[in-house]
Amino acid sequence: MELQNSAQIVQSLYLAYIGRAADPDGLAYWQGQLESGEVSTEAIEQAIIGSDEASGYLAELDSGEYVRSLYNQYFERDPGDDEVAYWAGRVDNGELGRANLANSMIDAASEFDREALSAKLAVANYYSQNVAQEDYDAQQALALDNLHSNEALYAALQQLDSDHEAMTLEQVGESVEGNPLYSAVVGTGPQTLMIATQQHGDEPLGTEAALYLLDYLAGDSAEAQALREEVTVVVMPRVNPDGFARWQEQVAGGEDILDPRRNSNDIDLNRTYDPSVPNDPDLAPESAAVRQVVEQYQPDLFVDMHHQNNYRSTDGSLDTLSALWATNEGVDASLMETGQRAIVSIDQALEEFEHANLTLYPGSDNPAIGRNGLGLDGTATLLVEQRGLQEMDQLAQGVELDYSALAGALTLESYLAMKGIAESMASGEFEQIDPSLALEIPERSDSIDFAELYGDDQYVPTEDEPTMVAEEVPTLGIQHDDALIA
Ligand SMILES: [Zn+2]
Repeated sequence: MELQNSAQIVQSLYLAYIGRAADPDGLAYWQGQLESGEVSTEAIEQAIIGSDEASGYLAELDSGEYVRSLYNQYFERDPGDDEVAYWAGRVDNGELGRANLANSMIDAASEFDREALSAKLAVANYYSQNVAQEDYDAQQALALDNLHSNEALYAALQQLDSDHEAMTLEQVGESVEGNPLYSAVVGTGPQTLMIATQQHGDEPLGTEAALYLLDYLAGDSAEAQALREEVTVVVMPRVNPDGFARWQEQVAGGEDILDPRRNSNDIDLNRTYDPSVPNDPDLAPESAAVRQVVEQYQPDLFVDMHHQNNYRSTDGSLDTLSALWATNEGVDASLMETGQRAIVSIDQALEEFEHANLTLYPGSDNPAIGRNGLGLDGTATLLVEQRGLQEMDQLAQGVELDYSALAGALTLESYLAMKGIAESMASGEFEQIDPSLALEIPERSDSIDFAELYGDDQYVPTEDEPTMVAEEVPTLGIQHDDALIA
């Protein structure tokens, strides 16, 4: 695996030899050295290894412990005993030094591990490049280890509500099984952005990102305060809590469970938006609540956060996010253009996140999908589909893999996409975007299924509990300000 740029190289050295993301000054210094062309990567590696901090970190670890540490720092998983024995043996017999060990492990990594490393380096780089030096936290998590259960989500929303005067939390309905549905509103601006997440129960990361978004938007930063003057942001997180609870049951080993994508009346909520078909609130109270909140706030843009399967381009990169505006021919052209501006604003926002790979979603004209149905009813919409669905499905099938590095990167991407739209609306740039730029975004790549992507024997299942099992521990909870996520 070739590291892509100087920031990734420096970041990988920090993770390997110091066990943390680079702080902003450290990253900038070593990047400058590397890019000057006068200092080799090997010399920088030796300088970092020789630093007091690295010496202390490395001195505490014998070769087996060091191998374990590298697996966790690079691939966000514990190695198997055979992997530890193999690599530690090569160090102990003098074949590999510690520097060569790290490089050799990257070279030998499976596709699955490479993806985890790539996701982790991207999150680490985003953090190092955006946090202020005085706010840098060496303990900053770079992966998403847990999801909020329904109870933890409600507790987190209530915590945000009590922490932030700028946020209003209101129950706007309840699911078939009686779980509450909330809207969280931040801001008083004349423009309104509405975001719904997780209409499909097994598509959870938009919900995690929405919590970070609410915390940022309701916070005390000058940027957030200014944004709130211009934009009212209405978030409906986890529209299908019953489905998510069923997905959790599947991950825990439950069988013969109704498809967690659907609500508990076996309805696909995102097929209930055709304005010419009366919505039956007994069958689909969740989407009835969405429509009621749309009616109440009349948003200038409605964004619907989902997950899709894996799609890989000819250059080998995987699509991380595909999006599409309303395409039913009955939708007013100006509303379609607003959706097009929204995807362009996401494209701009994701420029600073190297993990992101944005494409156009090839959606149908079906009027029952929120993207089209709300459009036919006069609301501009954008459907967002992030990768991750196949991984969630693998977990539900009992495959014990650790997706926390990928989940961290996708959650950060989701956060940046939503925040990017809100910021673009607030600054007035949104209105200036040429909607035809959306048509220049590449179409979604070809589908690739899980087995083909990773091969049956190319990844090593962890012996541990799968870490994406939702727990009632909001450890990823909520960062303050924009410091970062994950
Ligand atoms: Zn979906």
